[in-house]
Amino acid sequence: MPVRLFNTYSRQTEVFIPLDPAGKSVKMYTCGPTVYNHAHIGNFRAYVFEDLLQRHLEARGYAVERVMNLTDVDDKTIRGARTAGRRLADFTQVYKDAFFQDIDTLRIKRASHFPAATEPRYIERMIAMITQLEEQGIAYQADDKSVYFRLAKFPAYGALAHLNLDELRPSGRVNSDEYEKENIGDFALWKAWDEADGDVRWDSPWGAGRPGWHIECSAMATAILGPEMDIHCGGVDNIFPHHEAEIAQSESCTGKKFVRHWLHCAHLMVDGQKMSKSLGNFHTLRDLLAKGFTGREIRYALLTVNYRLPLNFTLAGLDAARAALGRIDEWIVRLREHAGDAAPAAAPLAAHAEKFFASLDEDLNISAALSHLFDLIRESNAALDRAELSPAQAAALLADWQRIDGVLAFQRESAAIPAEVLALVEKRQQARTDKDWKASDQLRDEIAALGWIVKDTKDGPKLSPR
Ligand code: AMP
Ligand code: ZN
Repeated sequence: MPVRLFNTYSRQTEVFIPLDPAGKSVKMYTCGPTVYNHAHIGNFRAYVFEDLLQRHLEARGYAVERVMNLTDVDDKTIRGARTAGRRLADFTQVYKDAFFQDIDTLRIKRASHFPAATEPRYIERMIAMITQLEEQGIAYQADDKSVYFRLAKFPAYGALAHLNLDELRPSGRVNSDEYEKENIGDFALWKAWDEADGDVRWDSPWGAGRPGWHIECSAMATAILGPEMDIHCGGVDNIFPHHEAEIAQSESCTGKKFVRHWLHCAHLMVDGQKMSKSLGNFHTLRDLLAKGFTGREIRYALLTVNYRLPLNFTLAGLDAARAALGRIDEWIVRLREHAGDAAPAAAPLAAHAEKFFASLDEDLNISAALSHLFDLIRESNAALDRAELSPAQAAALLADWQRIDGVLAFQRESAAIPAEVLALVEKRQQARTDKDWKASDQLRDEIAALGWIVKDTKDGPKLSPR
């Protein structure tokens, strides 16, 4: 079955056909973080959705080359560095490091490339692109010394966002103190240096300054992936003006269609409002880890709602994620115990796994995919209860699970049991032998506080990570 993806550009769900004539490799660009503080989990909703997309395409046999950029120079990073009294590069490095830690915690696959806007080769490319646009009469330097993109030269501007261009293009020059540009909608390609920028400056044909945010992405995307790419993603707030501007700049420079499929995820909401730094209604990943939630629980909560629907964030949602993962964990333990060393043989419930992938083929319908997974869990548990599943069939279901988990990345890490925990379990066994139930319960709590659950079975105590 082909993969079908909703394309923001056409507003249609389209069959995904890669540019690669061999139909194998996929080029994907994803707008990454602005590294001026810790990303909040709204940002991570976008990155987790992109991770699901990449993993599903890989499950369907594509080789995905993915770029995620780091915006390490813009108004926010410059302001942040100034307030902190640090050099820009030192200031952003802290948040770059934190970002990589966070994506590992959320089990987001590393992209093939993480270009940073301030790398000299990309700054050079930005300047080269702006120079070309100026030669084509598309870019112009205004009285404020900044360089702008002349919107009137790109009639398709607004097509991605389906905007009425007349509203954006008042006729004639704008005579306003605020606007030095020809047209209110013209956006900055190069921002002339001013005092607030401190030592953040690069030389250019237009004097000292720094690149605008939009040209950063056009330069990094085309430098690494070439003039055309299959997929470009971000959150819906990136559609306008950022992605619209990326199209205008890139296509004006290359003369080629920049992106085939545009995918945008809806926002993570809190009480009906977008989670954002400016509203102050955000949680960072670190806040939630400090509350005792794990990376995979947060990943689960961010993944379970289809990416084009808003997702309302609640702590209750994280509790539900914990419960759902607990069901998966128990099911796997059960299948493993039953399968033993048996070689896999055709399982009676294999259709569920196929339906899981078929659901994802339909514009990443994760809620349908998960419901097939939970049908599989319920029915195979019932079959185990009735002793109708052979060890070989259990082994086959485990193999299906491995394929499914290649996309979900939900599996519990098999952690080594720390000596401290083993000592407490031993103490607790002694308490039980002594029929000291109070001490035994207390020890169970101590073990739980260390992240382990102890279950008493006929073969003695069994430990599993919480
Ligand atoms: P920024 O660092 O603000 O440029 O955002 C990085 C990415 O996170 C972009 O793709 C945004 O569209 C996305 N984003 C920001 N806030 C949210 C939110 N509340 N829900 C989903 N995605 C978001
Ligand atoms: Zn971007």
